[in-house]
Amino acid sequence: MIPYGHQDINDEDIDAVVEVLRSDRITQGQAVENFENCLCELTGAQFAVSTNSATSALHLACMALGVDAGSLVWTSANTYVASANCARLCGADVDFIDIDPKTGNLSVAALEQKLASANRIPDVVIPVHFAGQPCDMKAIGTLAQQYGFRVIEDASHALGAAHESVPVGACQYSDIAVFSFHPVKIATTGEGGALLCNDAELARKSVSLRSHGVTRDASLMTGIDSGSWVYEQLALGCNYRLTDIQAALGCSQLKRLDVFVSRRREIAARYAQAFDRAGIRYLAAGVQSSVHLFVIRVDAEYRKVIFDQLVEQGVGVNVHYIPVYWQPYYRQLGFVRGQCPESEHYYAEAISLPVYPALTDQQQDFVIEQVTRAVGSV
Ligand SMILES: *Cc1c(COP(=O)(O)O)cnc(C)c1O
Repeated sequence: MIPYGHQDINDEDIDAVVEVLRSDRITQGQAVENFENCLCELTGAQFAVSTNSATSALHLACMALGVDAGSLVWTSANTYVASANCARLCGADVDFIDIDPKTGNLSVAALEQKLASANRIPDVVIPVHFAGQPCDMKAIGTLAQQYGFRVIEDASHALGAAHESVPVGACQYSDIAVFSFHPVKIATTGEGGALLCNDAELARKSVSLRSHGVTRDASLMTGIDSGSWVYEQLALGCNYRLTDIQAALGCSQLKRLDVFVSRRREIAARYAQAFDRAGIRYLAAGVQSSVHLFVIRVDAEYRKVIFDQLVEQGVGVNVHYIPVYWQPYYRQLGFVRGQCPESEHYYAEAISLPVYPALTDQQQDFVIEQVTRAVGSV
């Protein structure tokens, strides 16, 4: 089976992990700091806080921005459940914005319309750079200033992408950006994530909340006792730390980020060329996309048949995403079908094809052949 996504691990990655395993500290050592510095260098952000997943980073981001039971958070309907769950974990209300069918990203026009007619303005909006194609952050940032909400970019798909030549993660028009290092994403730490920001206070809060809200910094402590062993818990936090084993893998992976992304773009261009010829619709990747996903669109009534036929032929396709508010958990909160028609229409037609650096031209040609055959057979 050719999977839709796969990690790329080489001997250097393995050596980097082994080196940490043979060292004194396998967590809370130097590798985590190196990894965070590397993320700052790559994106131009001032602060990076690594975590054990993007889900944790999204939760930390919400907590650091003060999202709580009185808050309202909006996100895209076309995303993984984690983009909305982070707000629910803080007790906040959530709502969903429809997408621009050309990109699969949150529609700025829909956001603008929803803001103009809302009787409650969100505290935070979480745009998602779907498939690695950056949202129009400048426009979203302008609305954020106008209406006074904060912005967390869910950039789980978009490590290595750029918008108008500014790397995603620079947080030029947002408060925080979050990356995922799950194996199917652009670079991996096994499980892992990070949040990036340019605000020292947000970074400090995130670091504290990543480690139980506990500090050993004397200047922050209230003096519950004296002694060099004393730590104080100042806020309610979690243990969301990345290990040094994972961070060493991440550092080693980031050295090949350019190679990973350019190979993904190459694969997208080959798909585009073949499907243009075959008259198969697809979600076009912009030149600065990180191409986390390559999505074709087929007639909704045949999507299931085509999907099953591809799997039968050994093409490990997938679907991104079921509108989040269709999930039983969100239905139980009162969301109903029909709220975001573009997202629903898009979902009904979408199939994600294999795209990852190690996919060979031969394998891709096989995928193209199978897709063309399956689409032609209905
Ligand atoms: C993968 C993903 C997440 C969650 O990432 P983890 O690192 O697995 O927690 C969140 N949002 C989006 C859009 C994702 O694709």
